[in-house]
Amino acid sequence: MATRAEVLAELGLTPVWRLRADAVRGSGDAAERSAGDGADARTSRIARLAWDAFAADVDACTACGLCRTRQKSVPGVGDVRANWLLVGEAPGAEEDARGEPFVGQAGRLLDNMLAALGLARGRNVYIANVLKCRPPNNRTPEPLEVAACRPYLDRQVALIGPRLILALGKSAANTLLGIDATIASLRGRVHRYQGVPLVVTYHPAYLLRNLPDKAKAWDDLLLARRTLA
Ligand code: URA
Repeated sequence: MATRAEVLAELGLTPVWRLRADAVRGSGDAAERSAGDGADARTSRIARLAWDAFAADVDACTACGLCRTRQKSVPGVGDVRANWLLVGEAPGAEEDARGEPFVGQAGRLLDNMLAALGLARGRNVYIANVLKCRPPNNRTPEPLEVAACRPYLDRQVALIGPRLILALGKSAANTLLGIDATIASLRGRVHRYQGVPLVVTYHPAYLLRNLPDKAKAWDDLLLARRTLA
């Protein structure tokens, strides 16, 4: 379990000792205020990023420890004015090596799914992940990592202005919706993220292992297309 100091250090919010002890009610409050101020400043800065500065900013980010273990950051790829924004969980090994999301086997299935809809990455589609850096051994993202990376996803949503978000898999769906639910319970209806209609479907890597569920994923894509229309 990380200590408060370690958590703050991970977020790049140290040193906390600069705060005057008499300026706050207690040391716990001091650390929280320091964390709030630093995080707020960072969030507002990211919320004003232009596209031409976006990828470099992600690449230089040290807000969580993943920058130390990843190879390349994976900001996202595609049409920056897309109607469709696809959001996965986090880069895997191949994405980490190439700096582009969904380029492995799961990505090839995703491309085929898009093609079935008459879409392609880069043509009215933007693909991103909740996390822009690969967690070691593809482990599940930690809440701290998700929180640190969320301003980037939110900025992408604001810059792109998608008409539909497709959440790929349980992890992305739960993170975006701020809940803990099964894919089965989330599919088949339209949710919202930042005011944008959001449809949930299976992660392509799951579909590779569970081919019969591809039919359900196709239903999800049709729901997404109807919603967008
Ligand atoms: N899985 C994801 O969620 N994202 C990727 O970019 C690759 C695999």
